[in-house]
Formats: sequence, structure tokens, C-alpha cells
Amino acid sequence: MGERFGRRAARTRTLDEVSVAPPRTVALDARFARELPELALPWQAEEAPDPRLLVLNEPLAAGLGLDPHWLRGPGGLGLLVGTRVPAGATPVAQAYAGHQFGGFVPRLGDGRALLLGELVDADGARRDLHLKGSGRTPFARGGDGLAAVGPMLREYVISEAMHALGIPTTRSLAVVATGRPVRRDTLLPGAVLARVASSHLRVGSFQYAAATGDTDLLRRLADHAIARHHPDAARAGQPYLALFEAVVAAQASLVARWMLVGFVHGVMNTDNMTISGETIDYGPCAFLDAFDPATVFSSIDHGGRYAYGNQPVVAEWNLARLAEALLPLLHDDQDRAVGIAVEALGGFRPRYATAWSTGMWAKLGLPDGIEDAVVSPLVEDLLTLLRDNHVDHTAFFRALGAAARGDAEPARGLVLDLAAADGWLDRWRALGPDGDAMDRVNPVYIPRNHLVEEALDAATGGDLGPLHRLLDAVTGPYDERPGLERHAAGPPDDFGAYRTFCGT
Ligand code: AMP
Ligand code: MG
Repeated sequence: MGERFGRRAARTRTLDEVSVAPPRTVALDARFARELPELALPWQAEEAPDPRLLVLNEPLAAGLGLDPHWLRGPGGLGLLVGTRVPAGATPVAQAYAGHQFGGFVPRLGDGRALLLGELVDADGARRDLHLKGSGRTPFARGGDGLAAVGPMLREYVISEAMHALGIPTTRSLAVVATGRPVRRDTLLPGAVLARVASSHLRVGSFQYAAATGDTDLLRRLADHAIARHHPDAARAGQPYLALFEAVVAAQASLVARWMLVGFVHGVMNTDNMTISGETIDYGPCAFLDAFDPATVFSSIDHGGRYAYGNQPVVAEWNLARLAEALLPLLHDDQDRAVGIAVEALGGFRPRYATAWSTGMWAKLGLPDGIEDAVVSPLVEDLLTLLRDNHVDHTAFFRALGAAARGDAEPARGLVLDLAAADGWLDRWRALGPDGDAMDRVNPVYIPRNHLVEEALDAATGGDLGPLHRLLDAVTGPYDERPGLERHAAGPPDDFGAYRTFCGT
């Protein structure tokens, strides 16, 4: 009887009833909003007239305990655009400040984003579920609060590529087209990106708290950050100093990884630098094609402040701003606090240098035990060679793996000055590089600018095929596969200078 009743009940439920109700597993906590109400403005997403799922990250969804089948239905889409949140959830716009291109803005905050809440993933880690493009908030200033399909898919592709490269980053869960047009230069289809991060705490969050003059708020923010990201700091003699040192270490390691892979963030304002050490804010970012430290892609970065080669110095500058914000927690005496902060900030350069040279050593496949006095000039000469010959960064390092195995032609073919290339290759090969090990750290596929543009153009016009092919390539970056030759090659000669944009 019970069984028959159960079957009948299942048969008579409408599809809508089955898929609209949030499964019990969508347990969105609101720890950030609870512990830091001064930084959390409860807010609602704007209605999406005609939500349509463009891309869903099924493995990520599953890891968060979200049923991909449910996410594809109306209830899931409602969650992914923020218009149907589980009972008890408290979506908030987060307040933060930030130095933008060096100038302090005391009140930025989520102008077009919402933190829906936090989920605990399969590893037991707390993850923010966050939306971008979900409508205007009180922090929107002049902005429309919206986002276009192309740029949200761009963030999806590049952040997932970064993750596959092993670089700490926010993740992309889904992009949903809203059915609402967005006015940019022209009318574009609108979208919401659902993003996942270990948190959205930024240097700018601390600057905001510090600027209020409320030391209790600053301390609660620091305690929240320690609990979520750097729990060892809680057991240190000076927990807030330990927190700062941990952020310095995480950022030194992160920016070294950017440099090694040729990633240009493009808008390293302090509101776009996390406390977790994850890459955040994929607006004007792009990967190098030809190696050149002066490379700038962002259309608004006229002075080259965020040029590829400046990124380590900018990261250190941003960390100095974090240190300033933390001063009241470091010592009651301001001069003593400054002394403590300066000493801790001094840890950035050696940490960065170690992370970068260890990574470069691996990219060159060098065995242990070689003198740094041999490797350092070799690396310097290589970077000069790459810059002077406009050599494709990714293709060259990948080709070096083959050169280590005896076939130098692919690498030579990328350099104009063959005499210089051969001279350098001889010096390097004499050190006995391991080509197979190199292939595990030098990607063959990155989100190439020309392929990203091609995929986004097609997707904006309704064809998601190129986007899925690109995603397939860049989410397996080290594993060369037949049929993906186009995705391994540099840009066509007529691609020209690449320009990227913010606030899209
Ligand atoms: P970003 O350059 O993406 O880091 O954004 C900097 C600030 O501008 C943040 O406060 C954003 O919330 C805000 N912002 C960017 N684009 C928009 C938009 N279209 N509408 C409202 N606020 C925006
Ligand atoms: Mg930002």
C-alpha cells in the first residue's frame, strides 16, 4: 500500500514541483553576515525575465553538494540568478574600500554582486556562493548593476583555466543568461555568473573596516579571516601579525605563479586582492602571447601600473596598504606597530623570489644541485632572448620539453635570432634538463586571447560550440591531445594588439 501510494504520488507531482523546491542539501549559511553585519548589506537580486543556463560546472556543483540535475531546472536557475534563495538564506552586498590605480576610494562594495551565503564542500571547507551581474545595489554608484554574457563567460573560462593550471582562484559554477539586455556600446544579452570562493575578503575589506575607526569591527574581521583562511595564526603569539604574514606568503606565492604562467591580472586594485590568496576579479585580465614585461592589456591602464612585469611590486604595495589597515591590531603604540608591519612586509620579496625561482627551475626541467650562480644568468639571458625576439611565452616553454628530449626544432622555430637561440639552448641542455617533468609544469593550452574572443563572439550569437571546445582544452592544460592543435598555437599575425575592459 505504502509503496503504491509513493509511486502514485511521484507520478502525480508536476515537473515544476519536483525541481523547484530547493533540495534539503542547499544549506546556505550566513556566517559572514552574522559575524560582520557592518560589512553586509542584505539585498535581493533583480528578477531575470527569461533565465537560460549557458554553462554549468557539474564537477564543481557536485563537490558543493548541489545536484546538477536540480540546478538545471527552474529552482536551480532561480538560485543561480539569486531570485529564489533557500529559506533562511541572507543574500548580502559586501562593503569594502579600495585603492583604485593608487587613489583611495573609501566606499566601493558590491555594486553588481551578492554573496548568497556559504556552503560546506565535500572536503568540509566553507565556500562562498556569490553572484555577479545580479542587479544594482546601494554600492552601484553610476553602474547599472548588470553584466553581459560575453564577459561572464570570459571569467568562467579563464578562472577555470587558472584552476586547472593549479593556480589558486575563485571558481565559476555557472553562467545564466537573464533575458535582460544590457547597454554597453551596444545592447548586449545580460547574464549572471555564479562564483565560488573560499571567501570574498579582500585587502579592501580591511581598509573599509579600518576607515570606520571601529577597532572592534577590525578585530572581528581579522578573527573571521583567521578562522576561514589562516587558522594556524590563531595559535601564534601575535595572531594578527601571523595573519598578515600568512597573507604576505599566500600573495607572494600567487603572484609568482601568475608570472610563471604569463598571466596579467590587469586591475590589481586593493579591492581585487584577496586575503585567501585566491585570484579574484577576471575583468581585464589576459595571458601573454609574446613575452614582454611591459605588456598591458587593459584599456584604462594608461600608465602601465598593472603591466605584467609590475605585478610583484604592485602586490607588495597592496600588502603595505593591508599592513596600514591592520596597524591598530599590531600594537597599541603606533610607531611600534609600524615597525612590526615593515619587518613583516620585508618577508614578501624573499618569499616571492624563492617561489618564482623554484617555479622557473621546474619550467626549465633542471635537476637539483646546480649552482644558482649558473642558473640565474641562464634565466636572465633567456628572458632577454624571449623579449627581444617577441617569442610566444607558453609555446616556447612547452617546446623546451621536446628540446630536452632531443628535438630543438619547435623551440628554434619560435625565435628569430637563431644564433642566440642555439647558444642559449646549448648552455641549458648541458645541465641535463628533464623534458617529461617539464611537460607537467609547462602548459600546452592556455585561454589564448584570440580563441577567447572567437568563443565569446560565437556564444553571444548563440553558438556555444567554440566555448566548449576551448573549455575542454584549457581544463586539461598539460595533456596534449590530437584535434586541439589550434588551441596550442599562438595568435594569427593579423590579430594585432589585444585590448581588455573593466566593469563589463
Ligand atoms: P571591478 O573593476 O570589477 O573590481 O569593480 C570595481 C567596483 O565597481 C566594484 O565596487 C564593483 O561592484 C563596481 N562595478 C563594476 N561594474 C559595475 C556595474 N556594471 N554596475 C555597478 N557596479 C559596478
Ligand atoms: Mg572587483
